[in-house]
Amino acid sequence: MDKIIIIEDDPAIREELALLLENEGYQATAVTDFSDVPRQVLAAAPGLILLDLGLPGRDGMSLCLDIRKVSRTPIIFVTSRDSASDELRALSLGGDDYITKPYNIPVLLARIRAVLRRAGGPAESDTLEAEGLTLHLTRGTVSAGGGSAELTRNELKILAHLMAHAGQIVSRADLIDALWDSQIYIDDNTLSVNMTRLRAKLEEIGLPGFIKTRRGMGYQL
Ligand code: CA
Repeated sequence: MDKIIIIEDDPAIREELALLLENEGYQATAVTDFSDVPRQVLAAAPGLILLDLGLPGRDGMSLCLDIRKVSRTPIIFVTSRDSASDELRALSLGGDDYITKPYNIPVLLARIRAVLRRAGGPAESDTLEAEGLTLHLTRGTVSAGGGSAELTRNELKILAHLMAHAGQIVSRADLIDALWDSQIYIDDNTLSVNMTRLRAKLEEIGLPGFIKTRRGMGYQL
């Protein structure tokens, strides 16, 4: 069941949204204390955030930026501000969708479903293949002519992302994005450590140089 957190200071709208979401089978939770909202979001670990723009003490836009520093949970702005410039700014600051009040309930629910679906990503098939290498996603192993190796979760994610973009240059920023859980931020150093280990494992199964470094641009298979 998807958990949705409501960040809205108008109690009537907050309650209406919570009821609406619960009736649709979501688990709804609301922020009522507007200090340190990012921490509350992390603690609640929701699948989606509904965020108002006009909040006590601060603007939803700056709050979105703060949430984005610690979480990639999808954010839908639900606001009475209906200017194109507000919408553009909200989406460019890391919002995933923008809905104006008064909202149309079926449309709001459809957009929530769409954002959750996108966040869930396409259904993963069990294996990925590229350049003679097979990645077994559910088993967490990689195999080639020379043998097979077990991967950690991060190594698996890195390799899966590179294989899904085989032949293309993948930037470090893209890989860090791919490594993000909804809650935990992976830093540049963690990526380097994981990349070194992954390359050592690939070398062990007979694929040295499988992941090439493209200086100043990223990595490429
Ligand atoms: Ca408000």
